[in-house]
Amino acid sequence: MEINCPGCGAGLKVGEKHHYKMIKCPKCGKEFQVLGRETIQLTKDYIEKQMKKDFGKEPEK
Ligand SMILES: [Zn+2]
Repeated sequence: MEINCPGCGAGLKVGEKHHYKMIKCPKCGKEFQVLGRETIQLTKDYIEKQMKKDFGKEPEK
């Protein structure tokens, strides 16, 4: 699944084993917690909206 970094907004791919764990953004180095399914869904929607707005296309799966 994909989430976005709260520090720089970069889209990050993380496996389910990382749910609820702290991960570190490879782009800005910010550490943050990967939250659960509801937040993931919100974030996915957010990313899709941002991708459409910024690039006019669907995000790659
Ligand atoms: Zn970041």
